[in-house]
Amino acid sequence: MSLYDEYCLICGGPPGDIDLDDLAQQVLTGQCSSPLGTADPRAVAQALATVKANLGWVKHWVGITSDERRWDLGEYTGDGCFRLPDSEQQFLPEGPWRSSHIRMNKWREKRGQPPRELPPYDGPSGIVFHRSCEQVLQADLDYQPSHRALIHRLRDGFNRDGNLVEGLDYGPIVGCFEQYFDYVKAIVDGIDWMLRDPLVHRRSRERIVEMWRNFPRLLM
Ligand SMILES: [Zn+2]
Repeated sequence: MSLYDEYCLICGGPPGDIDLDDLAQQVLTGQCSSPLGTADPRAVAQALATVKANLGWVKHWVGITSDERRWDLGEYTGDGCFRLPDSEQQFLPEGPWRSSHIRMNKWREKRGQPPRELPPYDGPSGIVFHRSCEQVLQADLDYQPSHRALIHRLRDGFNRDGNLVEGLDYGPIVGCFEQYFDYVKAIVDGIDWMLRDPLVHRRSRERIVEMWRNFPRLLM
């Protein structure tokens, strides 16, 4: 399996498993693949250090399976799965897994090859998001995201032009969606504050609440 980042369905933020010190070195030595524009490389490297210092919260994720059971997830594996504490099994996010197969089948169709069925997976799978983001929705909007409400609204999370859930506008953070989250672009675009823990950072919290305030609740 190839490696890629998973994105939080609530805020669009990443799993935070990247080495940001290494990325800062790439910026300083001119080896970073993201364009810096007119930004000062030293300022971008400094901003990366600030992002890193405040990024611990993104490593805590929650998953919800189709029976609406809530799972506390462990470390992100880098290939689309999360480890489960005290288990050999892993938790698989459903949206990107499904969409990567849709893309693969489009690729096969162009070459006149028959589509492939989704491979069998016997571990738990479902929707995923940061624990902090879930707590914001619960506390400020009295809303608990459910599998039933979101599963049919998931979009391809790998596209820079795509929001993760139909009916929501994630704003400019969508421009950072790549195989891996583009931290340098977030800094150059001035939206690195969206990577702050919404439980302690007011602007980050307000952004999430505004996004979700009018989300259709009919299927809640
Ligand atoms: Zn989040």
